[in-house]
Amino acid sequence: MRIGNLTPLPGDRVLVELLDSEIGKGVICEILERTSLLTRPAIANLNQLFVVISVTQPEPDLLLADKLIISALSHEIMPVLVVNKIDLQVPDIDSIAKQYEHTGLKQIYTSAITGEGIDDIFDSMKGKISGFAGQSGVGKSSILNSMMKKEAMLTGVLGEKTFRGKHTTRHAELFVLNNDGFVLDTPGFSSYELENIMYNDLWQYYPEMAEVKENCRFQGCIHVAEPDCRIKELVEQGLIHQKRYQRYLSLITTLKEVHKNRWR
Ligand code: GDP
Ligand code: ZN
Repeated sequence: MRIGNLTPLPGDRVLVELLDSEIGKGVICEILERTSLLTRPAIANLNQLFVVISVTQPEPDLLLADKLIISALSHEIMPVLVVNKIDLQVPDIDSIAKQYEHTGLKQIYTSAITGEGIDDIFDSMKGKISGFAGQSGVGKSSILNSMMKKEAMLTGVLGEKTFRGKHTTRHAELFVLNNDGFVLDTPGFSSYELENIMYNDLWQYYPEMAEVKENCRFQGCIHVAEPDCRIKELVEQGLIHQKRYQRYLSLITTLKEVHKNRWR
């Protein structure tokens, strides 16, 4: 592995050759193929990302949520939208739900204070390697800590520890859950950028656009200014949420700038 410059990472599935001489000891001889690989934090095979926003304090940053969803999907990681702090009564929680209704993404409404929805998060982690992402202060650590407290059966070698804060240089570790799941002990992906996605591919990471079967008039339509665009029709009909689409347009503009500057 050293010759191949391969380093086993948290989340890796490996083949181990057991040593006859010492029971319980062995040597990693092969790293099995990874479904995903992230570098910050370094983690292999993450397959689910809980994108956390709070209903207020801080106000939901849905552009960031969209970016995290896109990043996740572009790495073959399934995003789940978590709307936290629902104990803080706000009038328009529904408006968040509506914006993501047509994405088909799973949404979980939680309060780390009252415990509502926390079981749902835990159950969704079954059999998967999960992580949390989102703006600072939305409650990522609180949700995980609340889950760890409630699910007293959370075990494994790392079960004693609590979720780590933001400022840490240690490498990532996974908590072992007793439902065949693993969860990353550090919130990651805050610095995720979309710079490797070409603007004309962006729509593919919007499930409500990617799943549309009917074609636009132009092949290679990016659903911005082209005539007879099926996606724009769906926006007008309310089948793709107007606000999601507007953020899509603003991301396209950003990505175009990024690429222009990069190749200059
Ligand atoms: P993180 O930066 O995303 O990890 O957020 P923290 O877990 O550190 O939470 C930030 C603040 O929000 C803390 O003061 C928490 O007590 C508070 N908080 C977290 N979850 C909730 C919640 O569901 N309801 C309320 N009212 N406050 C919460
Ligand atoms: Zn189009």
